[in-house]
Amino acid sequence: MEPDTDTHDTHAEPRAEPHAEPHAEPEPMVVDAVVVGAGFAGLYAIHKLRSLGLTVQAFEAAPEVGGTWWWNCYPGARCDVESLDYCYAFDEDLMREWKWSERFPTQAEVLRYAQNVADRFDLRRHIRFETTVTAAHWDEQSRRWAFDTDRGQRVAARWFVSAVGAISAPNLPGIEGLDTFEGQVLMTSRWPHEGVELEGKRVAVIGTGSSGIQAIPVIAQVAGHLTVFQRTANFSCPAGNGPIDPEREATVRADYPGYRRACLKNGAGTPTLLLSQSAFDLGEAERLAAYEAKWARGGAGGVPALFADTRTSLEANQTAADFVRGKIREIVADPEVAESLCPKDHPIATKRICLDTDYYATYNRPNVTLVDLRKTPIERITPAGIATAGRELPQDVIIFATGFDALTGALLRMDIRGVGGRSLAEAWEDGPQTYLGLMVAGFPNMFTITGPLSPSVLINVMVAISHHVEWIGDCVSHMTERGFDRIDATPDAQAEWTAEVQRIADGTLFPLANSWYNGDNIPGKPRRFLAYIGGFPAYAGRCEQVVAAGYEGFELSASHPVAAVD
Ligand code: NAP
Repeated sequence: MEPDTDTHDTHAEPRAEPHAEPHAEPEPMVVDAVVVGAGFAGLYAIHKLRSLGLTVQAFEAAPEVGGTWWWNCYPGARCDVESLDYCYAFDEDLMREWKWSERFPTQAEVLRYAQNVADRFDLRRHIRFETTVTAAHWDEQSRRWAFDTDRGQRVAARWFVSAVGAISAPNLPGIEGLDTFEGQVLMTSRWPHEGVELEGKRVAVIGTGSSGIQAIPVIAQVAGHLTVFQRTANFSCPAGNGPIDPEREATVRADYPGYRRACLKNGAGTPTLLLSQSAFDLGEAERLAAYEAKWARGGAGGVPALFADTRTSLEANQTAADFVRGKIREIVADPEVAESLCPKDHPIATKRICLDTDYYATYNRPNVTLVDLRKTPIERITPAGIATAGRELPQDVIIFATGFDALTGALLRMDIRGVGGRSLAEAWEDGPQTYLGLMVAGFPNMFTITGPLSPSVLINVMVAISHHVEWIGDCVSHMTERGFDRIDATPDAQAEWTAEVQRIADGTLFPLANSWYNGDNIPGKPRRFLAYIGGFPAYAGRCEQVVAAGYEGFELSASHPVAAVD
């Protein structure tokens, strides 16, 4: 372990007592828990574990807290969950005192919220910034994990809490010639904090998912010319952003905890919008009026959020998809561009629905061109720009909005080895297997906040994070009180859960789309539905049942004989 005078760590303070003096082969520092990542999951995990009396060491690759909200500071970056819902609920003072300014907060505002939480609860002293955990190896004898970092630190801990984020490992596609480009190459997921001069420049954006769709309208306002390279047209609905509605804010704030408890009863952990179970419960005129009203109001889940069977019935889905395609054709002046922007290869909402501000109208600007890669694929990147269909489109800047190796990427980028030295990569060769998205069999004492096969990316992630952190905290308390020092998921429970997650997804339209939900966006990634789609209440109920049945599906044990505790 490096001494605490380490100059890169501006927040250095003793985080736990090292058990040995530094020498040539330093012994690792020993703490109770290591938390990897200091985004919203990591911050709450540090707070929770510390409140249980544990010594905690966290590592964060960025120089600041905030996780995804630190890295994704591209123009137009904004949360697509409403601000009143996108916050912690564990502290009533925090809920009461923090004031959001807009219905959908900007990246900068969400980051300020994370920084406020870190300061308010004095969490920074537990975090080593600009430090990446490179390896985590389980040691059966000591029943501890041994961690290595890219700064040469070594730490051992009983508990390994992964807070690496579900959508955090960037995907930069290997397009031929990229390294020859003489202009500037940027990624939305790694945007420079000092900002980028795009004024008057020829800018290319590759990718039209949530990130691209947010960035494109904002970049178009300053670029000399913007060329959008679209591989798959995506469905997007208006966010309807604006200053926070004082009436709604007052209603929510009148009983914030009660409001959050009510949200937890809904599938996505946000206020329910569902008009009806089926789109066909309404006549055509009534249904269209409902879609119109939702389009005008904007926000959560877009048009597809109105009927439950949008996700399960192709016919119902088509009514929402046709409505949005109609809107695209209405908004976009050039019919050929409008057709290219109309998604036709997947049911609506089977790829993550995007919420935008003026996305489709941006294509009416004279300084914006759409290149439909289905018609004219990228051949290569040249020193001067991007070559498609035999012509070169010169660029000053190329921006990749090409997404993430979601759910598994950030975990697999660490060298994680469990029982018998088996790597996580080996265990997940055919796709991730987990029990409840919380643990992986053969990787004892390792918890994965918003891990693969949990609801994570399909619900308000603040709800997902809070639920996991609280479950983990309760589990660690339960074990500590009873003298247990090892917990592992059983292979049977894991196999059943993994199959159940896929079975539920197979009952929906989601597998019909090529999407990161299925792992399709990363070449070679096994195809498997990566999140639990049964909704938060069912999931939370299942986690509760497991605990009530004495941590059913887990094996808890002690290295020393323990006295019985009720
Ligand atoms: P994404 O949804 O995976 O979109 C990536 C885009 O890049 C897609 O259009 C994809 O096309 C394209 N692409 C990938 N590789 C390509 C290649 N080699 N050539 C051409 N195009 C390529 O990624 P994202 O937009 O970053 O969003 C990921 C998730 O992060 C979202 O779904 C959302 O959950 C979250 N997010 C949330 C917010 C928010 O809260 N507002 C904002 C941003 C992101 P294909 O579709 O053909 O693969």
